[in-house]
Amino acid sequence: MDFEKIFKSISESEKELIDLTCDLIRKKTVNPPGDEYLAGEIVTDFFKKYGIEYEIFEKEKGRVNILGYINKGKKPSVLLAGHLDVVPEGDPESWTYPPFEPVVKDGKIFGRGSTDNKGQTAALLMAAKEMKKIENDLGCEVVIGAVADEELGSTFGMVYLVNEVGILPDFAIIPDIGGGNRAIDIAEKGLVNIKVISFGKKAHSSLPHLGLNAIDKLAEFIKKLEPIILTHQPHPILNAPTKSVNIIHGGAAHNIVPDKAEVVINVRYLPGMTPESIIEDLKKVSAKVKKGKFEFQVLDYLVPTEVAPDNVLVKVLKENAKKYLNIDLKLIGLGGATVCKQLIEKGITAVGFGPGSDAVAHMSDEYVNIKELVEFQKIIIPTLIDLGKNV
Ligand SMILES: [Zn+2]
Repeated sequence: MDFEKIFKSISESEKELIDLTCDLIRKKTVNPPGDEYLAGEIVTDFFKKYGIEYEIFEKEKGRVNILGYINKGKKPSVLLAGHLDVVPEGDPESWTYPPFEPVVKDGKIFGRGSTDNKGQTAALLMAAKEMKKIENDLGCEVVIGAVADEELGSTFGMVYLVNEVGILPDFAIIPDIGGGNRAIDIAEKGLVNIKVISFGKKAHSSLPHLGLNAIDKLAEFIKKLEPIILTHQPHPILNAPTKSVNIIHGGAAHNIVPDKAEVVINVRYLPGMTPESIIEDLKKVSAKVKKGKFEFQVLDYLVPTEVAPDNVLVKVLKENAKKYLNIDLKLIGLGGATVCKQLIEKGITAVGFGPGSDAVAHMSDEYVNIKELVEFQKIIIPTLIDLGKNV
């Protein structure tokens, strides 16, 4: 394989990459409502221009998911997907540059979605253009995705694609973790929201000793919970579980001792723990609150997910980053979730890897380094070639 030639072509296509990123940013795909079809047109025009076969999947009109195929049907199948939706721009006054009128300056592209996730999506398209040229030498099917609804749970995006459309590749690379091409996300904590309800006894608030104040009891519980580390087995990559009391409600009137109060606790947990095991821990804490009466409810949860640190995808990514760009990729775990979680739950070896910075995602003056978008292509193309040989 003549990588010199491919890399030269990638470098020479930098202007096209910048223009493509800027075109995507100009399309206002703020979620909600999403309107991903606006940017979707740019993606389909690109695929048409370079003779790349594609399909569009919509769970709801306008919420487009576009998949482009190189070597359709070949095995193994590798999905690389960026997302087209962006978070709202917030107060426009807080931006130096207009959020939807991208500015290219100092090797960076500024604009909403530049680093989350339109720059990455543009880089994937540019890589697809190069891979199309060497299609016959690629030993795998490459699926390039531009998907919907990542910022609000992927109901119209990846969740729909894997669960309803049946998109089930063997491997996936999701460039949506920041990390500046320096880290591979192989593990993600689980997440559970638990409602804790404290029960007391009503009384006239001029005679509080006749009642039992549910808010006081709940406050005692929260204080006792604070220093507790939830029961867990240490994980090689993920740090300890965390918990945060994020919502509180209670009381009915100024002059009534409250008989009910509640909080919602958000817990990020490790493999080996379950929502039930976490509630057991909470119950032990609540038992120390004298006269306290509590109830615990799981509101919703996502399980922790991980792939083996020595799997072939991780191996070839690390090898190629080192070989061609002298980058040492570090294995990391996340407390938040990417669409890797949905893919891993379906048995797909999915990792997060790509350009961009977490520090500017969702912020004013969001930007992406153009150099990183170029680097990214130079790592994934040899990786896909090796994956085709190795599997
Ligand atoms: Zn994102």
